[in-house]
Amino acid sequence: MEKEKIIRGISYALLIFFVLSFLTLLTKEIPFADNFFKSLEVKSFDFRENILANIYGQKRTDNSKLALIVIDDDSMEKLTERYGSWPWNRSSYADIIRYLVKDQADTIFLDFMFLGFHQGNEQKDWDFINEVSKNKNIYIALNFDFRKSEENSELPLELAANLDNKSLSIDFKDFTFTNVRSIIPELMKAASNIVFINYQRDNDGISRRAPSFFVYKEKYYPYAALKIVQDYMLRNNIIGSEKFTITSDNYLVMGSKKTKLDREGYLVLNWHNKSNVEEIPFWKVIEGKVEKGYFKDKIVAIGASAVSLADTKSTPLERYLPGVKIHTTYMNNLLNSNAIKPVDFKFNLLITFVFIFTTSILLFKINSNLFNAISVILLIILYVLFSTWILAKYNLWIDLAYPIFLILSTYTVVYVVKFIRKSQDFEKTYKLATTDGLTELYNHRYFQEQMIANIDTAKRYKNNFSLIIIDIDFFKKFNDKFGHQSGDAVLKQVAGILKKSVRASDIVARYGGEEMAIILTNTNLEDAQITANKICKAVANKPFKLVGGIECKVTISLGVATYPMHGEKPQDLIEIADKGLYNAKENGRNQVGKIPYVEPKQNEENSLEE
Ligand code: GH3
Ligand code: MG
Ligand code: MG
Repeated sequence: MEKEKIIRGISYALLIFFVLSFLTLLTKEIPFADNFFKSLEVKSFDFRENILANIYGQKRTDNSKLALIVIDDDSMEKLTERYGSWPWNRSSYADIIRYLVKDQADTIFLDFMFLGFHQGNEQKDWDFINEVSKNKNIYIALNFDFRKSEENSELPLELAANLDNKSLSIDFKDFTFTNVRSIIPELMKAASNIVFINYQRDNDGISRRAPSFFVYKEKYYPYAALKIVQDYMLRNNIIGSEKFTITSDNYLVMGSKKTKLDREGYLVLNWHNKSNVEEIPFWKVIEGKVEKGYFKDKIVAIGASAVSLADTKSTPLERYLPGVKIHTTYMNNLLNSNAIKPVDFKFNLLITFVFIFTTSILLFKINSNLFNAISVILLIILYVLFSTWILAKYNLWIDLAYPIFLILSTYTVVYVVKFIRKSQDFEKTYKLATTDGLTELYNHRYFQEQMIANIDTAKRYKNNFSLIIIDIDFFKKFNDKFGHQSGDAVLKQVAGILKKSVRASDIVARYGGEEMAIILTNTNLEDAQITANKICKAVANKPFKLVGGIECKVTISLGVATYPMHGEKPQDLIEIADKGLYNAKENGRNQVGKIPYVEPKQNEENSLEE
């Protein structure tokens, strides 16, 4: 019994495993389903980031190495007198550079595209270009696109990254461009540093991740924030080499710094944890309202935050986040090594299956449907908490959407399996209750029930039906001679002959001992007698196999009765058939007995008239 249970458990586990594996493969193969789960997954990530941002909200600290200046609505308003209405004349940038240089900023990164001279304001443009040429720590932005390559679109060799993409573990197909937009050529010449600021949102328009490299004319170019942090770390001896390596498991390695990228080459930004960099309005800097020395030794990024300037992004936490803040978040994540690590597919699958097995074992152990449902809900909550904890503690992003779907699928499969098991059990119990173990014929009780049922139907449809009672001849002697086991073997074989000789709708039962009975539905006396004779001959002609391989002949005697001519109650019919059987025995056995004469029934009306 124990062994049977174990085998059953293993086969259920295997069944669930195969069903779920099949489901997983199928889901991966159907783009619609794959996208569906991917979009659910990123939403689950947003959900977790939001929970953590709420928990950590108070504890966030600004990164002391980073500063952020934004052109906000106030700045656009307050500085019109000085720089005109938007777009400002470029003395604005010259002024801020002068301020930051004086305040000993480490790096100045301008997150703007300087596409051409401002007609009539070239003097101010040159003011800016001169400031850029004077300072080695200024970063000017470029941007790729998918247009046909412009004529002077060759990039200086030194801008390409020294990247070793180990056996091309990432193909950067999202980031392979055909053209680079040209900015003011004089500015480009003046700038000591050029960086690339392309950005791609996720399908739902939310910014969760940022690029690492762009591919242009078969060379790799680092994303602005990546390049700026690399330079910073080189200058401050945090890393010792300009070389980038991407390992086969998608780690971006810079010296001793290791950062996980996702399969498409993105760095997944950490929004919940210490990603805060205070936004300082541009006008406050220009008007000297920022504490002296605030920018000292910091990487200062300058960009737009005014919604009208259309450089805002939606992130898991904020609806409108200045685009430049993506850069500072990225820098923060790199410097503090707290970027999100997306867990590999295989590892995800492993965690998932551990959960699935826990679920299925739990569900099989618990018999109550209510507790099953509750435990599944608890398990899902546990899984959400676990994955959120992992995200908080190790910055690991393990999948949530698909595993939860699998947990629910397991629940369904277990439910179905349990249902099937129950109905099988029911069938088994029903069979046990209605059949005889030795001959596998119906038992006496079932026979009696069927007699009543047949009388009811026959009465309603004005049909007749017949009953045959069978008794094996000299069976006592047979047992004495060949033993009880051989007797049992004969009983079984006789039962087989009976079943084979009648229609599927007829009921063959073991009436008791070595007596059997057949209900022939919808059959008149004549046909019943024909069937009875046929059975009698079939038994007489059959060589029965006994224990020890001996063969032997056996005969039976039979009695027949028919509804309604021999009675309208089960006892009446049985009595007549029994009498017939007695006649057969009297008359030498191995035959169908003569039916005793029965007075035709008179109804009560007639008797009253007489
Ligand atoms: P008859 O021709 O008059 O029917 O003679 P008989 O010996 O068959 O007489 P009866 O029907 O009264 O005897 C019934 C015998 O059937 C008694 C018993 O030894 C045997 N018998 C009853 N049930 C079983 C059974 O389940 N297995 C075996 N092997 N024998 C049984
Ligand atoms: Mg008998
Ligand atoms: Mg007998």
